Amino acid sequence: MTTSPRPEALPETIHHWIGGERVPSADGRTFDVLDPVSNQPYAQAARGSADDIARAVTAAKNAFGVWSAYDNRRRAQVLNKIADAIEARHDRLARFESFDSGLPITQARGQARRAAENFRYFADVIVGLGEEAFRQGTEQISYVVRTPVGVAGLITPWNTPFMLESWKLAPALASGCTLVLKPAEWTPLSASLWTEIFAEAGLPAGAANIVHGIGEEAGQALVDHPDVPLLSFTGSTDTGRHILRSSAPDLKTVSMELGGKSPAVVFADADLDAALDSIVFGVFSLNGERCTAGSRVLVERGVYDDFTTRLAERAAHVRVGDPADPDTQVGALVHPEHYDRVMNYVKIGREEGRLLAGGARPDHLDRGNYLQPTVFADVSRDARIFQEEIFGPVVAVAPFDTEDEAVELANATPFGLAAYIWTSDLKRGHRLAHAVESGMVWINSHNVRDLRTPFGGVKASGVGREGGAHSIDFYSDSKIVHVALGDVHVPRFGAAR
Ligand code: NAD
Repeated sequence: MTTSPRPEALPETIHHWIGGERVPSADGRTFDVLDPVSNQPYAQAARGSADDIARAVTAAKNAFGVWSAYDNRRRAQVLNKIADAIEARHDRLARFESFDSGLPITQARGQARRAAENFRYFADVIVGLGEEAFRQGTEQISYVVRTPVGVAGLITPWNTPFMLESWKLAPALASGCTLVLKPAEWTPLSASLWTEIFAEAGLPAGAANIVHGIGEEAGQALVDHPDVPLLSFTGSTDTGRHILRSSAPDLKTVSMELGGKSPAVVFADADLDAALDSIVFGVFSLNGERCTAGSRVLVERGVYDDFTTRLAERAAHVRVGDPADPDTQVGALVHPEHYDRVMNYVKIGREEGRLLAGGARPDHLDRGNYLQPTVFADVSRDARIFQEEIFGPVVAVAPFDTEDEAVELANATPFGLAAYIWTSDLKRGHRLAHAVESGMVWINSHNVRDLRTPFGGVKASGVGREGGAHSIDFYSDSKIVHVALGDVHVPRFGAAR
């Protein structure tokens, strides 16, 4: 059987982290955690229920007074210590992430670095944060007081789990909220490291709590808990819709980072070599399990045949293999259920498009959730593989003739997360960037995000933004205080003339 080397110090049981302690579920239940190479259970994780969520919310409520009273600089010191503790575990973290999720080890290393940077960034943000004041001449001054919302409920997916958890943990803690995190059930391993990271950094007990478990059980209980006024969710559009509906009766504040089917638009005048490198990496890195993957490639007719052939050649040569091998470019898809789903799309794609590369497990890998990067050409806009998020190393390619048609095709799905535009005509690049319906656009550039910029999508890709000041706004309530500076002239209703 194909196996990946087990990282050292792999826990046999992954516990919840409630009130600063590792604890089992109240009812003692657990669930199997598989690695995606052997698809065999290698650990048990605590299976949280409504009781465990209630315990965690109580711990977070109890810690709120302490943590929210830290001034910004003191909170920033703890955030920087969290970043130090992440960096100190950088290697173990990357090995855990790669083993549990199937991400190639070299790409898992980047995720760990980015998570640490994110904590440092939010430490800087709150030290520099001011509150606004508005003066109306000599009559009145109004100023804003920012307060943390309370206990935040954070729900995260299995793709790049540790890094995506950091995207929510860092701004929630920076803002002074306490929190309960429900990590994805397919990839709980790296989240087990937060417990020692938080303890080492001196985060007060109960400020951050982690409850593992199944979405419909632990996740739903967190969504439904009346003392959790705010939910930050990253995951699929269907689950996002469900959570929005569930949280409507309590009018909770929600942020939704959802699915994508992002277009990469290539004009004939582009630097085609650079476009090819970026497109191949953008859709196949992270095993294609990337919300911002450019999974629809739209190519101007004049260069369509040539570009598509080159794309297919590159896909056929991508090195698929053991996630722990530093030469691996695409590892194993996260879970057998997800693998079946992706393989079903490949089957559908064989009827909807022209298969130019991949479409099957590589010959040298007899077990594990492996798929050779797959390219379908001549895909029509109503095809399912053009419309639906596959979330694996599969790309749909289609030609266009005019700029208008490129925009129309780019916008022809329910999603609107990211878009990539390749042209040497910068006026056209900007025109397209403004016309494409998406939260983020990269022109002649790669999917690199400055942490200060807003991240998120439109249409079925999300509600709200994460990143930078947007995150601090989300986790804070602003109150405006109006104060008279001089005599107040109020109309004297009912007074004698
Ligand atoms: P998912 O929706 O199945 O699960 C996400 C999380 O929600 C998991 O922790 C799960 O346990 C939980 N959950 C499921 N049902 C729930 C319920 N009823 N109540 C509360 N929680 C519940 O998504 P996934 O398959 O883990 O992740 C892949 C998806 O995430 C893709 O669609 C991808 O595009 C999206 N994603 C989006 C972004 C972004 O920033 N826009 C980033 C990464 C991933």
